[in-house]
Formats: sequence, structure tokens, C-alpha cells
Amino acid sequence: MVEVAALIVAAGRGRRFGDSLPKQYCAYRGEPILRHALRAFADHERVNHVVTVIHPDDHELYAQAAAGLAIDAPVRGGASRQDSVRLGLEALADTAPDMVLIHDGARPHVGAGLIADVVAALKACPGAVPAIPVADTLKRVSGGIVEATVERKGLWRAQTPQGFRFSDILSAHRRARGRELTDDAAVAELAGLDVAIVAGSRRNVKITKPEDLAMGERPENAGWEYRTGQGFDVHRFEAGTSVRLCGVSIPHDRRLAGHSDADVGLHALTDAILGAVGAGDIGEHFPPSDPQWRGAASDAFVVHALGIVRGLAAEVVNVDVTLVCEAPKVGPHRAAMRQAIAEMLDIHADRVGVKATTTEKLGFTGRREGIAAQALATVRLPVEDWAPGKP
Ligand code: MG
Repeated sequence: MVEVAALIVAAGRGRRFGDSLPKQYCAYRGEPILRHALRAFADHERVNHVVTVIHPDDHELYAQAAAGLAIDAPVRGGASRQDSVRLGLEALADTAPDMVLIHDGARPHVGAGLIADVVAALKACPGAVPAIPVADTLKRVSGGIVEATVERKGLWRAQTPQGFRFSDILSAHRRARGRELTDDAAVAELAGLDVAIVAGSRRNVKITKPEDLAMGERPENAGWEYRTGQGFDVHRFEAGTSVRLCGVSIPHDRRLAGHSDADVGLHALTDAILGAVGAGDIGEHFPPSDPQWRGAASDAFVVHALGIVRGLAAEVVNVDVTLVCEAPKVGPHRAAMRQAIAEMLDIHADRVGVKATTTEKLGFTGRREGIAAQALATVRLPVEDWAPGKP
């Protein structure tokens, strides 16, 4: 069986949080940063050994951070990261795993899929690092003035875990002693080893600054992306005594024609929510030909769309509906409409907008032939890992 070891580098002295603790032991989402990283490897089915390189002063902190996890005894680190990695590799020499994954202890968001991808890439290449293509324009700056714009094509940001065939990287590190290299891939490159790129993850950040900690602690600002969808609908008037708009029945001298209750506002809203997650449209989910929707309360459509959003581990942030008609007057019912929608979506009413306008007696709405509605919905989703071909 191919043996895979993980070497977690946590010997740094960085105290950039104004804290007495080295940053890898600072609390993050209720646990030391390091523990998140350790757990990812200790629990991974492809990883057989986990060894951590720590500073000799940190034994007590480390014992707390690693308590209960399936991890070997820690190894004493060196003066630099590179020294620490080499000492960790030397400590693994007796075990002699086939592969080693070298990971920064300050990257708590390493995912199981990323670890598996790095291991898989080592079948074809002696080294593999996760990386993300550089998206920002790069400037070379001197004295606060831009000297040049650096071509970013072909530039990638390297992350960890960086994987290597064990004997290759051990001898490369031994030979690189005295050189100052910023990551283990650079050590491998110096030894002439090919290093392949695997798709990194935008969540796999290294926590180096207080604001990184704060961002992670506030999930509304980290690990989410926001998407917006829009919807539009029209229903015509026919003889009747009330209309249903945004979940509220309003006495009127006509009603809206339609297969369901013809709630034009909720139909636009349903399409907006579906649009935000690319899940088709209302006609696809509730075909007018299907008798079960005859006279149905359109609340069910909104709730169905919400179920799709929740199935993606996503949530609705806010919605905004505009009703276009000369009559009935929407103003007196606005609060009830907002409340009705808020209850359908299980969000606070301050996240629901309902507005009305006329078209100055122009067009079909101006001639009172029907009502039109527009809606926007914003949802937030957990950030997907970057992968080739994805924007
Ligand atoms: Mg409709």
C-alpha cells in the first residue's frame, strides 16, 4: 500500500495578532487555527501518518491543540521554516512513507478534496502543489511609484499542502541547506524535480493578519459568494372581485386571470429566486398543463424555489418586488405583502422590498388590462473551490 504522511509546519513565532500566542494557536471558530489543519489530515482516508513540527516552547499549547487527534509525537522545528521542514522530513526517514504532504499549520480551510487531488497528482509527477491563477494586475513598485506592470499570464499563487515523493524531497531539502527558499516546491525545483499544479481553493487561505481571523469569524464576509436573479411576469385582468398580489388578497373590481391564483408578484419573485441559482423558471417547475397547480396559492411556488436554494446550502439574502399597475392601490397593503413574503422565505421583513408604480396610463398596464411585476432576489452560496474552466 502506498503510504502517505502529512507534515504540518507549525513552528513559527509570528505573533501578529497583538496576542501572546503564536498565531497558529490563536482561536479561530472556537478552536486553535492549527487544530483545524491537523484534523483535516488526521481524518483523511489517504493519510497514514501526521507529524507536526513545533517550536520547543509550544509543547503545552500543542498538546491542547492536538488533543484526541490521531497524530504522531511532534518534532522540534528549526530556526527557519525551511529548517523546520527538513527536520520534520528527517524525523520521518525511519517511517519512509512513499509520499509526504507538507502543509502550513496556519491554513485551517484545507479541504479533503484538495488533499486527495494532491495525492492523486503525485502518481504522474514527483511534486504537486495547489495553486490559483493570479487574477489581479501586478505592479512592480519602488518608493511608492509604479515602475512597471508585470505580465500576469502564467503566474500562479502557490498554496499548501505541497506533495512530493518522500525520498525525493528529503534529499532535495538536504541539498538545499543554506539556501533561502520560500516554499517546498522551490526546494524541489532547485533539485530539478517537476512540480505539477493542481487546482487550489480560494478558501484555503493562510491566516496571517488579524483581519483574516475576523473575516473567518464572520461568515457573512468569508466563504460565501452572492448571486442575484431577476424575474418578470404579467397577468391580465378578467371579471372578478379581488386580486391576489404578493400573497395578499385585495378587494378589486377585477381579478387576475391565470392557471394558479395568478399572483403576478409571487411569480416574478419565484423566477428571481430560481434565476439567482440558475435553476430554470417557474414554468419548468410548475407546468401550466399540470392540473395540480389549478387555483394553487402561489406561496407554494416561492417555497419550492426556496427549497432549491436551501438544497445548495444557500440562503436568500433579500428580495425586491415592483408591481406595475394603475389599480388597485398597493400602498395600504405593502406591509402585509412584505410580511407575507418574509414568512414564505423565513427571513425578516426588512429583507423584503415591495414597491408599486404606474406607467402613466401608457401601455397595457396604463389601460388597466393587467398587472406586470418585476423582482430581484439575492442569495448567498458557500464558495465553491476553484477548478480549471470555472470563472
Ligand atoms: Mg405568472
